[in-house]
Amino acid sequence: MEYQMFINNEFCNSSNGEFLESINPATGKAFAKFPKGTPQDMDRAIEVSRNAFDNGDWPKFSWRERAMYLRKIAELMAEEAYTLAQLETQDNGKPLKETTFIDIPMAADVFDYFASIISEAKGEANLLTKENLSYTLYEPIGVVGAIVPWNYPLLLACWKVAAALAAGNVVVLKPSQETSLSVLSLAKIIKKADLPKGVFNIVTGLGSEIGKALVEDKRVDMISFTGSNSVGKEIMKLSSVNVKKLLLELGGKSADIVFADSNLEEAVNAAILSNFMNQGQMCVAMSRVLVEEKIYEPFIKLLVERSKKIKIGDGLDPSTQMGPLISEKHRKHVLDCITNGIKEKAKLLCGGKIPDNPTLKDGFYLEPTIFTDVKNNMSLFNEEIFGPVMSVIKFSNEDNAVEIANNSTHGLACSIWTNDLKKAHRISSSIKAGTIWVNNFGGFYAEMPFGGYKESGFGKELGKAGLLNYMQLKHININLEKKPLITTWYSF
Ligand code: NAP
Ligand code: MG
Repeated sequence: MEYQMFINNEFCNSSNGEFLESINPATGKAFAKFPKGTPQDMDRAIEVSRNAFDNGDWPKFSWRERAMYLRKIAELMAEEAYTLAQLETQDNGKPLKETTFIDIPMAADVFDYFASIISEAKGEANLLTKENLSYTLYEPIGVVGAIVPWNYPLLLACWKVAAALAAGNVVVLKPSQETSLSVLSLAKIIKKADLPKGVFNIVTGLGSEIGKALVEDKRVDMISFTGSNSVGKEIMKLSSVNVKKLLLELGGKSADIVFADSNLEEAVNAAILSNFMNQGQMCVAMSRVLVEEKIYEPFIKLLVERSKKIKIGDGLDPSTQMGPLISEKHRKHVLDCITNGIKEKAKLLCGGKIPDNPTLKDGFYLEPTIFTDVKNNMSLFNEEIFGPVMSVIKFSNEDNAVEIANNSTHGLACSIWTNDLKKAHRISSSIKAGTIWVNNFGGFYAEMPFGGYKESGFGKELGKAGLLNYMQLKHININLEKKPLITTWYSF
């Protein structure tokens, strides 16, 4: 299979004809290729998008017109859902159950949602005095560069693209070199939906080349980035060239707080899911599981027993519960983190190695891994591993749990398990994180904002706040006085 980039509503190869290969992480084999875009390709995409914003119809359309296009995209995505889910599983490795029930339907839904709330971006009027009227207007920002990672390739792209387009911006999207195919399939859908030329563009290739070129370009007004802290910090520096607006969704080291008064089975199952779903490659992975000491022993026993039963395999097999990691390189990184944990004297309770099942030998598989005796000075406690590695930590009381949870440079999310909702409410306001789930995990709703505190980034995706992030607010003041005072300040 050969894919093409999408610039100015046309599918094209890279300017030098080079390609990159898409690897299926379950087999370790290439199954498709896509263009290795050059800085010249990026330049062209920015040029056409700049022109589409400055001279085209998209930002001038009424919100109803833009909503029609977005609803069409949602409809076409729903029609392609089965194919998109298969493709995403093949390219990323995550189980089909996840792509079928999470990635693809949520990606389509977000276009519908933003179509339905564009009209909410309304300013307000203020009659400051009888003769002095002010009002505000939300306006699009311009050319938005969207850069997304490989863990939810299509879904995270759609969060950005749907909101940015709804707001009247034009978009240049740069997917991860690991997973560009589902996003290139979105281009086919957008082509069918017949958006005006240059409004939506995709350039594929290396982040260090074309991603950098996008961030550095003065014709780009905003960068919406989801990815690692190190690249996020680099983007902050590079985008200062023209004081671009930034939205940064970065890493996490979230805490799952399990109180003795919670339902043990539910809390154990949630800890497993929140660490091993998508092979733990989730920004909101609850990689620090804090357990009240009264239930520590039974919790650990059940946790290990159940984690060992997780069925590892090719994501395309519907019975698979855990697929391979994204790449050999990433698996090596996760294995190095595990080795460091062992060196630092954390106790490895299960996993920690490549499965010995010979049928899995070509894929990038790794066993679900659980450590205990993890102290706050250890790398396991502090570093985002982005793999199936859980650290379990004992706590004594509510204050102690909050202190451990907040002991992190990240602040993305937190999950609290208790039957005492007063306690949950108290703790929720003390935790420094952008999302708190009580007796829940992974509840993402198009209607509700998502984004981090501290070094997990700033700005929100989804919800009304997610729409307004892609807009700027203008104040218009009208002097209605017959003879405005300001005109007689100097007496001539
Ligand atoms: P990454 O290495 O930071 O890459 C993210 C994106 O940035 C990719 O498209 C990458 O392209 C591109 N990129 C790399 N270097 C660049 C540069 N110098 N200038 C511009 N773009 C550049 O992150 P990842 O490994 O793909 O994803 C994992 C990270 O994402 C984790 O830290 C995770 O927590 C975070 N994440 C956060 C959220 C959230 O909502 N907060 C959600 C999901 C993931 P290439 O792939 O081509 O290098
Ligand atoms: Mg791949």
